[in-house]
Amino acid sequence: MESLENLNDLFIHELRDLYDAEKQLVTGLPLFAQAAKSDQLRRGFEQHLGETKEHVSRLEKVLRGLSASPEGKSCKAMAGLIAEAKETLDEDVDPEVLDAALIVAAQKIEHYEIAGYGSVCTFGRVLHYDDAVGLLKKTMSEEENTDRKLSQASERLNEKAQAADQAAI
Ligand code: FE
Ligand code: FE
Repeated sequence: MESLENLNDLFIHELRDLYDAEKQLVTGLPLFAQAAKSDQLRRGFEQHLGETKEHVSRLEKVLRGLSASPEGKSCKAMAGLIAEAKETLDEDVDPEVLDAALIVAAQKIEHYEIAGYGSVCTFGRVLHYDDAVGLLKKTMSEEENTDRKLSQASERLNEKAQAADQAAI
């Protein structure tokens, strides 16, 4: 078993967790993009896939900078979040509802990442790893932007669904 003796060990442990989470997401996001009904939402997922690949390489850079291997952890939380999203996709979902379901799943993922990056940014600051913090903050702001865009997309979908309902009356 891995031993965590100090904040530095915990910092590396959490970075590895994020590294595995981001790698899982590189595989998971194309499923989200494929399933999305709205073009704008699909493009959003595709754009975040590009950013996510960048997140993987930033974590590699950060961990190498600490003379630590990026490998060694499997993120069960991200595996669970992606598994739940897949479950929804396998169910019989009304097309109007599907995009909303994808947004919920994606926002849960972004919030998980934001929690992880928020913590490693704090640890990195306390430990005076300025270069690492710079890179991690960049990723953190991309996660926050993605979350914001998903909230906006969700508002738009609700307006559309409501307009469709009213037209049907
Ligand atoms: Fe990410
Ligand atoms: Fe993300």
